[in-house]
Amino acid sequence: MSQIPRYAQVIVDIAHADVDRVFTYAIPQGMALPIGTRVEVPFGRQVKEGYVLGHADTADLPDSKIRDIIRPLEEYPALLPQLVALARELSQSAHCPLAETLRLMIPAQMRGGRVRVKTEKAAQLLVSGEEMAQARAAQSRAPKRRLLIDLMADGQVHPVSELALLVRSPLEALRVLEEAGIARVFDREVLRAPYPDTPAREQDPVLTPAQQEALGEIVPALKRREGAFLLHGVTGSGKTEVYIRAVRECLCMGLGAIVLVPEIVLTPQMVSWFRARFQNEAAVLHSRLSAGERFDEWRRIRQGAARVVIGARSAVFAPVDDLGLIIVDEEHEGSYLSERVPQYDAREVAHSRARREGAVVLMASATPSILSFAKAQRGDYTLLEMPERVNGLPLPEVTVVDMREELRLGNKGMFSTVLLEELDHCMAQGQQAMLFINRRGYAPSVVCRRCGHTMGCTACDVSLTWHAWDSRLHCHYCGQTSPMPERCPQCASPYLRTCGVGTQRVEEEVARRYPNVEVVRVDNDTTTLKDSHRELINRFRSGKARIMVGTQMIAKGLDFPQVTLVGAVLADLSLNLPDFRSAERSFQLLTQVAGRAGRADKPGRVVIQTYQPEHYAVVAAAGQDYRSFFGVEFARRRRDLYPPFTMLVRLLCQAKDEQTARGISAGIYARVERLMEENPGWKRRVLFYREDEAPIRRIMGRARAQVFLKLLVHPDSEQVLKALQEIAKQDWPGEVALEIDPASLA
Ligand code: ADP
Ligand code: ZN
Ligand code: ZN
Repeated sequence: MSQIPRYAQVIVDIAHADVDRVFTYAIPQGMALPIGTRVEVPFGRQVKEGYVLGHADTADLPDSKIRDIIRPLEEYPALLPQLVALARELSQSAHCPLAETLRLMIPAQMRGGRVRVKTEKAAQLLVSGEEMAQARAAQSRAPKRRLLIDLMADGQVHPVSELALLVRSPLEALRVLEEAGIARVFDREVLRAPYPDTPAREQDPVLTPAQQEALGEIVPALKRREGAFLLHGVTGSGKTEVYIRAVRECLCMGLGAIVLVPEIVLTPQMVSWFRARFQNEAAVLHSRLSAGERFDEWRRIRQGAARVVIGARSAVFAPVDDLGLIIVDEEHEGSYLSERVPQYDAREVAHSRARREGAVVLMASATPSILSFAKAQRGDYTLLEMPERVNGLPLPEVTVVDMREELRLGNKGMFSTVLLEELDHCMAQGQQAMLFINRRGYAPSVVCRRCGHTMGCTACDVSLTWHAWDSRLHCHYCGQTSPMPERCPQCASPYLRTCGVGTQRVEEEVARRYPNVEVVRVDNDTTTLKDSHRELINRFRSGKARIMVGTQMIAKGLDFPQVTLVGAVLADLSLNLPDFRSAERSFQLLTQVAGRAGRADKPGRVVIQTYQPEHYAVVAAAGQDYRSFFGVEFARRRRDLYPPFTMLVRLLCQAKDEQTARGISAGIYARVERLMEENPGWKRRVLFYREDEAPIRRIMGRARAQVFLKLLVHPDSEQVLKALQEIAKQDWPGEVALEIDPASLA
């Protein structure tokens, strides 16, 4: 018989560097506390939550100094040991306390008991056959009880709420039956299901040769329990079917799988595809679920009832035991990077988790990130290619329209002649179209006609966007809104005009041109409600709406077979961002939008409108030519020393005013300079460093400044980063955050 250990090593759930270590507690007699169990412990004069991470039979403190664990919070260990190991690793790489990364491993609302198991009253007959007949006869003068016995004669568990549909207020009668030993009434757990109706099971299609070939590489890796793949498949090549078959293999081998999806709008589609094949074995985890739904889905996974998890980036921490496969769909997406503390890249976490647990990673995209494709070329990942669409459908035909030429010809509208003709044709044919513009709102700026002043946010250093639905100016950084001023705040002129185009304006324009066609708009403004994205997408999928206008949210992954026309209204928006990734992002966006057209039997047409038709990202996207884009971009990165050849590091300083912020950045700069003098060897690693205001000087009333460094990728660079981290942690009169290759350089 195994002895119950005397002591537990507990990480207390306080994310502070000072308490970032294990504390020893005594385990009270008879309390079973497996490793990974969450517990309540006394801490100072407070009661805190904590995690049991180890056991011991001896302690290095006298017993009088050791306090007892109060109680376990759940009767099962919430943390799997492999996830504790992952949390440890992450706390080191993200430079944050272990308590902070352990929080990633459980639903947020479990902490502090903010979500509970939901129960309902249920009843069940305890007698059958002869006994039941006797019991029934005994109730001859109580028709309600007799009816209840009849209703429960099948011996199954019946929710009281269901019985109440046929018998008025049944509870009292049930209690009488219970006292007589005929039935039992009890609380039973009910699961809150985010997608309650189970879809009918669908048949597997016959695989294409390319799909078969890809699986021919993946399946042996699943058996070996190691491998990392990059699947480069053009839009519509049927990548999802490869995921489904690989997951099926996993399940057959008794292993679980995680499917990461980048955006909330893509989740329902993936979920319905997976549930059509795997039914309730598939669970869903993402931020738009209610706390109860998320908790229940998480428990289904933890208990092993659901072995396939589909979810956003944090689903990489799902408690799947015996993990066989992690799929990263649309692996090039920026949303796999978490900007919040603790910062992590779900793709990197996927690889390290997979290595530890003997799982295979399958990353896939029509437009792989430059980083991943370079790794595949180097041999870090096995490259799998699916260069053709399913059933030999052609890739859509792309026309690039030079908007400067349109202007010269006197067309001042947002749509070129070509796009209008195509739209007219598409609508006349009863088909569907998607129009894409990467900017929400009606007009991105309001400018004074007399002095040129642009209306800006009072709290942020950005221009305000005019929204038509509430006729107000919105700040897209802090969310503040204000009425449209009557006069220019600078020169008092009453002549203000809205400039530029956003999704609302495109929506208005098409609604005006096609009054009988229903238009849906999908952007951050229309999808904030829990299920709104699903509703909008269903309206379009069902064919009720025939035009969809949207931001990058609709650019990728969505499969609408009836769409024959795609228009990129203004491709330049992403090309002109002050970021070394702007070409890569533009190429990805344009290739992905183009890929929405012509996915079924009818060929697709794509119109890209731009002021820079000769830009290599536009040209390559028009030809759907990933290889040539990769070649040009990779050479440019090498020449100009950008990632993956270098690492960009920023120390972002935020303070109450500009002077303080710049004071911090100047102080940091001086410290960096000293570091360089003290470590002459680092000069070869650090290509340059400078101090400056941030591109956006103020957000939410906080002034922003930065120290920016470019490092060569080298093992020694870890030392430089450590030193920078130390500097960031010092007591500055504001916040300092160290960012490595940040997703946004704003
Ligand atoms: P991708 O993600 O590569 O853009 P999808 O996975 O969305 O492509 O697949 C495109 C379409 O092809 C979907 O409608 C899908 O149902 C269909 N499809 C995929 N594989 C097959 C197959 N083997 N046979 C028939 N249809 C398929
Ligand atoms: Zn003015
Ligand atoms: Zn603002």
